[in-house]
Amino acid sequence: MPDDIEQKINQWIRPVIRQLSAYHVPDPGNMIKLDAMENPYGWPEDLKREWLSLLHDAPLNRYPDPGARELSGHLRDTMGIPDTAGVILGNGSDEIIQMILLALAHPEHVVLAPAPTFVMYHMITKFCGMHYVSVPLKDDFQLDSVAMLTAIEAHRPAVVFLAYPNNPTGNLFDEETIIKIIEASPGLVVVDEAYAPFSDATFMDLLGSFDNLLVMRTVSKQGLAGLRLGLLAGAVEWINEIDKLRLPYNINVLTQLSAGFALQHMDMLDEQAQRIKDDRQTLIQQLAQLPGISVYPSAANFILLRTAAGKASDLFCQLKGRGVLIKNLDSDGALKDCLRVTIGTTEENQLFLQAFRQALEK
Ligand SMILES: *Cc1c(COP(=O)(O)O)cnc(C)c1O
Repeated sequence: MPDDIEQKINQWIRPVIRQLSAYHVPDPGNMIKLDAMENPYGWPEDLKREWLSLLHDAPLNRYPDPGARELSGHLRDTMGIPDTAGVILGNGSDEIIQMILLALAHPEHVVLAPAPTFVMYHMITKFCGMHYVSVPLKDDFQLDSVAMLTAIEAHRPAVVFLAYPNNPTGNLFDEETIIKIIEASPGLVVVDEAYAPFSDATFMDLLGSFDNLLVMRTVSKQGLAGLRLGLLAGAVEWINEIDKLRLPYNINVLTQLSAGFALQHMDMLDEQAQRIKDDRQTLIQQLAQLPGISVYPSAANFILLRTAAGKASDLFCQLKGRGVLIKNLDSDGALKDCLRVTIGTTEENQLFLQAFRQALEK
């Protein structure tokens, strides 16, 4: 880099931003893509045609409805959001995490979450110049109730994030422990239910019981990742404050129309989720029989597994060489020797399994 640019960058770009590395997304090329928790199933032709005819008349010359009212109504119905709760939509739940943290941003405010968990909580906390405290999960990836409550008492966090089910571990945390955390927290508790379509548990029904509880959802893992649409539900008073951080028209015309259309075909999306759940059970059983592999329970559309010591990165590369892209989580700490594989189509899962068996035999 020329010296004068470097000097200006050092002068003006905030140090916390200089220290971050950009969120890296690998190029899958033609590989079987089992790294990003996407739904592998598309739509039948007749449904695509119906959708395209709707888009044909989309008023692209106009700004979208700023409140996305019609879409919000559909989302409230399909996600069972209590009538009394307020709702904000975001350009993915990532944008909602950003709105929450911008609303709370203050150099003395703490964001608390267990570890390992979804990486965006940490990244966005850093963007916002706040302090991030992580509390290790137990060996079985359950919340450490005592450590969480002690950390809440010590740090008085502005917000606690709990992914339910958790990414990348795949499990649901103990409900009673979460309730204790909500009761003990001086600030907000955001329960991030990105994987709700694949689990039978939710905190949505408890929104009326706790005034510091917010529940976040997304349509990404359900099969609409390309639309970028997430939502936050909770007490109207909190929602009104956070909504001030939302940029106008953040949900574009095409997303409003397409998501509204897709939600009218929830039966198809639910069927796809059911197939993914059935295949998850099959794959867990098959993986558990492989030598040196331990498999963690999953309530999500992915499986976390642990390989024999020191083997994970090599297995990941071998799979890549065989045309299957999964996620390598191997690093020092709790995820040492761990890999994460998204449930694909029934056929993709079997191709992955075959490639994995071959890699293990080498
Ligand atoms: C994937 C994921 C999200 C991000 O969802 P988007 O709506 O696609 O931004 C949020 N939380 C968790 C825990 C996730 O795994």
